[in-house]
Amino acid sequence: MEDRYKILIIDDEEVVLDACTQILEGGHYEMATAMDGAHGLGLIPEFRPDLVFVDLKMPGLSGFEVLEKIRDVDPTIVAIVITGYATVNSAVDSMKKGAFDFLPKPFTPDELRLITRRGLEKRRLVLETIALRREKEMLREHFAAIVSHELKSPLNAVQQSLFALGVELSGQLTAEQRNRLERCQSRVDDLLQLIHTWLRVISRDIGKLRENFRPVSVPAAIAKAIESVQPHALRKDVALQASAEEPLSPVLGDEGTLVEALVNLIGNAVKYSRVGSQVLVKAEEREASVLISVADTGVGIAKEDLPFIFEDFYRGQSGGVETGSGLGLALTRRIVEAHQGAMAVESEPGQGSTFVIRLPAFKPLILESDALAESQTGGIR
Ligand code: ADP
Repeated sequence: MEDRYKILIIDDEEVVLDACTQILEGGHYEMATAMDGAHGLGLIPEFRPDLVFVDLKMPGLSGFEVLEKIRDVDPTIVAIVITGYATVNSAVDSMKKGAFDFLPKPFTPDELRLITRRGLEKRRLVLETIALRREKEMLREHFAAIVSHELKSPLNAVQQSLFALGVELSGQLTAEQRNRLERCQSRVDDLLQLIHTWLRVISRDIGKLRENFRPVSVPAAIAKAIESVQPHALRKDVALQASAEEPLSPVLGDEGTLVEALVNLIGNAVKYSRVGSQVLVKAEEREASVLISVADTGVGIAKEDLPFIFEDFYRGQSGGVETGSGLGLALTRRIVEAHQGAMAVESEPGQGSTFVIRLPAFKPLILESDALAESQTGGIR
């Protein structure tokens, strides 16, 4: 049998509690009541309600405080405010504190039944969304496991064998055979790189990066990224220029992953640039944020592609002639978001694109005693 929905009513008026219980009892709900906020909150861990009615005006904890605490304990519980002084302000305030709806006193049995049904429908949707999200996450993890075991491992073995074959047969192969072997090796390398990026995109490891965050120097990260893209830029005769405003706060993060994000952006800028052009990488600080921009004067991005380029596997019209997987920007966005940052892009087809990463500037707290000493030495003397 399906579990019955549980409803908790918190109101200091006994007559309201009795009336609500009587009206709703026919609806096959499990009911609990409390005459004040503290008692009501105390019931939540054990009773685990789906829906809570809270009177706004009660002695002791106010309805607003109860709402806030319910949200802290379990934000999925649907709360409805009962109020004798239904003003627009009190309704807005209740919604801000997490209430789903409000029921002005006095109310009719039908009004109570209707709002209960709506509240429980909301609860059903919330629980369904959580279950779907969990299912999606499990699928993602399952998929990541399949990709790594069933694809990555055999490809690693192929890569290893091709390498051994190349060594064993060196000197015995014709130029054409060597060329064919090298092409095989390079395709396998590309596939392994694609799988690596793919796994990074779908894995949850990026979210766990936070555990090892340290202050990272942005100019140093840019220098490392440029070094990595430089061979590609040289082949295409694209000049990479970097500049950093002084002073520039560090950012709190994982250097390797931030460099990976920058390599993706600078790599794209080179990839979608014209031969002989220039890519500018600039770092500056604005209002507690460090902004890193990567600007090119390349092919640009079509307006209709712009809203989608950060999605997994999306390749824009500009991607057409170039090889790629449509995963670079998706991974970059996830890395930046794991650093509490955001990304933006401006682009004009035929003129070029500028991608901007915004990260919170890291400002270590000055200890109060240090600040005091500083103010004393810099003061009257
Ligand atoms: P990929 O480059 O492998 O296709 P990305 O996720 O890195 O995948 O980029 C998604 C799409 O965004 C690309 O296919 C391309 O259309 C567009 N794009 C990204 N960066 C640039 C750029 N600097 N200039 C023009 N188009 C770009």
